[in-house]
Formats: sequence, C-alpha cells, structure tokens
Amino acid sequence: MFKKILIANRGEIACRVIKTCKQMGIATVAVYSDADRNALHVEMADEAVHIGESPAAKSYLLIDRIVKACKQTKAEAVHPGYGFLSENKEFQKALAKEKVVFIGPDAHAIEAMGDKIASKKLADKAGVSTVPGYMGIVKDVAEAKKIAKQVGYPVMLKASAGGGGKGMRIARNESEVQEGFERSQSEAKSSFGDDRMFIEKYIEQPRHIEIQVIADRHGNTLYLNERECSIQRRHQKVIEEAPSPFLDAKTRKAMGEQAAQLAKAVQYVSAGTVEFIVDTKRNFYFLEMNTRLQVEHPVTELVTGLDLVELMIRIAAGEKLPLKQKDVKINGWAIESRVYAEDPYRNFLPSIGRLVRYLPPAENKNVRVDTGVQEGGEISVFYDPMIAKLCTWGKDRKEATAHMRAALDAYYIRGVLHNIPFLASVLGKKKFEDGKLSTNFIAEEYPDGFSDKDLPAKDPTTLVAVAAIVHDAYVRRAAGISGQIPGHGRNVPENWVVASYGANGRENEYPVCVSPHKTMLGGGIVGSTVNVGKKTVHVKSAWIFGAPLFVADVNGKSVTIQIDNRVVGYRLFHAGSQMDVGVYTVRAAELARLMPHKEPPDLSKYLLSPMPGLLVSLAVTEGQEVKAGETLAVVEAMKMENILKAERDGTVKKIYEQSGASLAVDQMILEFR
Ligand code: ADP
Ligand code: ADP
Ligand code: MG
Repeated sequence: MFKKILIANRGEIACRVIKTCKQMGIATVAVYSDADRNALHVEMADEAVHIGESPAAKSYLLIDRIVKACKQTKAEAVHPGYGFLSENKEFQKALAKEKVVFIGPDAHAIEAMGDKIASKKLADKAGVSTVPGYMGIVKDVAEAKKIAKQVGYPVMLKASAGGGGKGMRIARNESEVQEGFERSQSEAKSSFGDDRMFIEKYIEQPRHIEIQVIADRHGNTLYLNERECSIQRRHQKVIEEAPSPFLDAKTRKAMGEQAAQLAKAVQYVSAGTVEFIVDTKRNFYFLEMNTRLQVEHPVTELVTGLDLVELMIRIAAGEKLPLKQKDVKINGWAIESRVYAEDPYRNFLPSIGRLVRYLPPAENKNVRVDTGVQEGGEISVFYDPMIAKLCTWGKDRKEATAHMRAALDAYYIRGVLHNIPFLASVLGKKKFEDGKLSTNFIAEEYPDGFSDKDLPAKDPTTLVAVAAIVHDAYVRRAAGISGQIPGHGRNVPENWVVASYGANGRENEYPVCVSPHKTMLGGGIVGSTVNVGKKTVHVKSAWIFGAPLFVADVNGKSVTIQIDNRVVGYRLFHAGSQMDVGVYTVRAAELARLMPHKEPPDLSKYLLSPMPGLLVSLAVTEGQEVKAGETLAVVEAMKMENILKAERDGTVKKIYEQSGASLAVDQMILEFR
C-alpha cells in the first residue's frame, strides 16, 4: 500500500479523500493556491505545497507544478478528485513518466471517453444504447440547421468537449438553433478551448440516471447500481439520490450490464460513471462516461456501504476488488443536496464572501456532510461556489427526505447567501415527494424563478411562539439584573404583540401570551405554554441565550428554527422560509403602528447587472428602441454567458458601461427613457 498520497484538488473533495487516507493510515499532501492558503484541505493534510496563484489556470491546472510537488514530497500516488486535472490524459502521462501512480483510469480510457462524439461511437460499437442523432462534427449554424431538421426537433446542440452542463443548448426550432449554436460554441471555446459541436435528439421529459462502475486490474468489473440526478438546473445536478424511484429491477440490471460492458470495452480501471438519459417508457440511452470519482458518489456509498475512495486507492495499488457482483446490495435510501453559495432569489447568482458563521448539522448515521470550508473561510470568485454536499440516509425514501428537511433546517450559514431555501422548497414539492422527477423539474416547478411563493405556506404560529419565548426570556433576564433604580426596573408583561414584517412593512400582528416559564442560568428554557391568538403551543427546549438554533419539541414534534437577533426584533428561518418579527408590549405595538414605511427606490428604469461579471457585449445603442424579449447585453460570469433581455418595450436613454467592463452586482449598465 502507498505510504503517501498527494491530492491534486481543493475544497470538499480534497477533504473527503484525505479522510479516507487517514483511515487507511496513509500520509497526505495537499496542494494549494494563494486564495486557499488557509483552506480546510490544507489544514487537514499532513503536508501542503503551494503551487501558484489563485486562478485555477495558474495553480490547480498546472501539471508541472503538481508533478514537482509529488517529487518534492515523495508522494507515491495522486488522487485527482473531480474537475481540474481529473480527466486530463496529459496529467496521467506526466505522472507515469515520473513513476507516480495516478489513482484513476489509464490514459487510453480517459482519452476514449473524454470526447463526447468519440465515446458515443465507442458505446454504440460496444452494444450500448445511445441517443439518436448525428455523430459527426457540425461546422456552422447553416449546417446545424440542416442536421437539426434531419434529426427532428427538438434537438440538443452539444459541445464534444463539454462538461458541467456548459456548451449545451436545447433547440426546438430553427431560430433557437441560430441563437443556441453560436452561444454554445463560444462557451465551449472559452471553457474547453475546443469548439467542436454535434447534435442529437432531445429526449422529452427525461430522467438522468447514471451507473457507478468500478473495475480492478484483475479483470473484475462491477456495477454499483444507479443514482438518479434528474433535479438539475441548467443541466447541472442539484439533488441526487440512490436508488432511483423510477427503475425496476429489470431496467436496473440492463443498465448496469451495459455500463459494465462499456467499461470492459475500454479496459476501464478504477471508479467511473456511465450516464444515461431515460425516457418516460424506461428506454435508456448512453450520454457520456465520466472517468473519475463523481461529485454525487456519497449517495452510492451510503446505500452500498462501500468507500469508493478506498476502493480506488486499493485498485491503484494493484489490489483485487473485495466483492463480486452478487455482493452489491442496495440498503435503504440516500439523498444528496448540493449546498451552494448563491442567491436563489436572484437567479442563483454566485454569492462571494466570508463565512462569518458556519455551523453544519451534526453528522450521524442519518446525516453526512462533505464540506470543504470552515467558519471564517472564504467563498472566492476563483472556484466553484459549492459550500458542501449534504447527504442523508433513511430506510426508505420518505425517511431519507425527512432527515434531509431536518438537516437543512439546522444548517446555519451566514456571511454569504446560499441555496438552502431553494433546496427546502424542492424537497417540499409534491412531485418530488411522489418521485415524479425529470430534468425539467426545476424549469416546470419554478417557471419564473424561485421566490417565496414556492415555499410551502406555513402556519406562522410556531415561529411567532418561538419569537415570543426568546424575547420574553431576554426581557426576563434583563428584569433580574440587580441594582436597578426603583421604579425604573424592567417589567415582564404577560401579553406581547408579535408583528411580522415583509417588503412592504408591517404585515400581520399576533397577540401572544407567554406563560411564566423557568429559565436556567444562561438560558436553558425548560418549557413554556404560549397562546398565539386562540391557539396554544407547548414548547420544550434547551435553548440558551445567543444560540443560533432553537431546537425544540413543539406540541410533540421536533423542530429546529434558526434565530438571529436584529437591531430591533428577530429573523427566524424554518423550512426554507424566513420571517422578520418585532416583539412589542401592547403599548409599544400601538405606537409602532404609527411608524411610517419607507418605500424602496424605483429601479425599473435601469438595466442592472444581475451578477458580478464581464460585460461581453452590448446589443443596443443610445436612442435605440427595443421590444420586450430583445437581447440587451451579454454578461459572462463563472464561464457562463448570460443573456440580459428587455422585460418590456422601451427606448434606451443612456449607456453607462461598454463591452469589456467588469461589472459588480447591481451595477447600472444602461437606462431607459
Ligand atoms: P455534461 O458533460 O455537461 O455533464 P451531459 O451530456 O452529461 O453533459 O449532459 C448533461 C445533462 O444535460 C444531462 O444530465 C441531461 O439532463 C441533459 N441532456 C444531455 N443530453 C440530452 C438529450 N439528448 N436529451 C435530453 N437531455 C439531455
Ligand atoms: P435593553 O435595551 O433592555 O438592554 P436590548 O435592546 O438589548 O434591550 O434588547 C435585547 C434583545 O431583544 C436584543 O436581541 C434585541 O435585538 C431584542 N429586541 C429589542 N427590542 C425588541 C423588539 N421590540 N422586538 C423584538 N426584539 C427586540
Ligand atoms: Mg454529464
């Protein structure tokens, strides 16, 4: 077995690999860029080597530097994680030259599968069912239109070198080919330095179901069954699960066998994933093979009980797989939610910044958190804004979902915006509950983007009661302070008024009566009975002053509510919703009612940059008339080109920024008359 492994990656996956190495008694070497100087993976590893500047192209993608770091630290093997150099055959070859073992497949397999056109041809030859379409290179828009017609609309325009959902567009007619082809091609060029495009049939209402395979150097190739990854946004996975609620035993076996067949055809070694698209009739078609550890591998680990990283390391060291196909079992159900630093309310724009507070839920047999950050750490512009992968396990899908909801409630992140409200909303949708998934799920369930109305309408009683209890406890404590001037001490009233606030100021008022409760020193509410209007709520909790989580038994149900103190009042979070409240005495509530509400300024006349990014092009000039739906500008952020369109008819009055400008979020690009 290896004595020392270098991890050529960062973030959660570097940390995850280090964990397994530690369990196996293998020393670890981290590599890091300027931005990651204080990152968690650097702290966790036994040694760390600085390999360059913050942009990945100047550090994590530099083959020479990483090979040098291996020699310098005498690492015998390299785990590449996913992304970066994990599917780079040159990296594989450079390591081989220095006799450093690459923990992954051989260069020939990476090469064969690295190209979508070539791999599709190969799969076809190996007897794997592929998506109908045109397997050649499509040169330009004119040719694309011709071929799209032959294939039959709708079609998928795809970059052969694509990955991570980039360089891909659906086209339902000729004009969508016109727009989508060039965008995808230029995206592919800037992301992969390769703009070869091909076209295939777009499968309607598809599910994305993939098969995990693993193979050793002794001729054993196994399939570890499927993961369903249909909950996607812009072709990028958001929530994954294993097993799939859609597959029957027969389809599972057929897909597994075809995946293993393909792996054998390329003499595949190590862990890999064969992705399929499955139509409503359970016909399945090969999409691509990812020759690496997949982001969502934990769900497979949770239901098979295997450690895929350990198996990869053992295989790389020449060991035999310790199990046979018949030993592969599916135990219970696992779900993964990708927690991102992004603003779900604003089209999921990356939210950069420092994690001022960071408290992931506690891990146990039902909850697993793969995280690469810690409190005080930073989510930077340089890398993927993923904070963590939150996985839950249960004996069935219902139980796994319930654990996920509870874990999301307890996930406390401040300093950057995050997608937990969105994840909670998805988990709460009826279609998700019923397992009626498709890759259109998000587009169909959130046609106008995500907003508060996508959160299940909740009875505010519990939140109101908790706000009142917390406030009552604060005031009770203040009243107990000794030495208060006679006649000026704090009184604790029995009746409170909890007022909730929204964008337009005060929304609702709830008369609340908190029964006297015992609080222990420093908090520790034992139990209280609260009347909210005509409803009665019994709350038991060990909450202490200042704690961000109010974990309680409310009328016999276990509930976790996040609670932040504000200048006046509290902000509570639960099940993806947020509620701002003030807690007043009856008299103060009367006076608060008289406070004027300040209207926010009207910005509808301006085109604001929805994200920090680069203004790639401006499609309009001053004085130009535009119609609703016309393109105004293209902004690139995180290597994705975003088209900003006119929301209604108008005339451009003034242009503030020219193409090439760096834009901050909310920066004015132009103004309408
Ligand atoms: P990437 O390399 O970016 O992962 P994939 O080929 O795996 O590219 O496709 C990503 C996603 O795009 C799939 O999970 C699926 O949702 C969607 N997709 C790709 N091809 C098709 C198709 N022909 N029909 C329908 N959806 C597709
Ligand atoms: P005091 O002035 O008596 O010291 P503070 O202003 O420090 O009280 O308030 C104690 C806590 O109560 C703080 O967390 C504060 O945010 C909160 N608080 C104060 N006034 C209100 C209010 N009207 N409604 C809700 N919370 C309040
Ligand atoms: Mg894919």
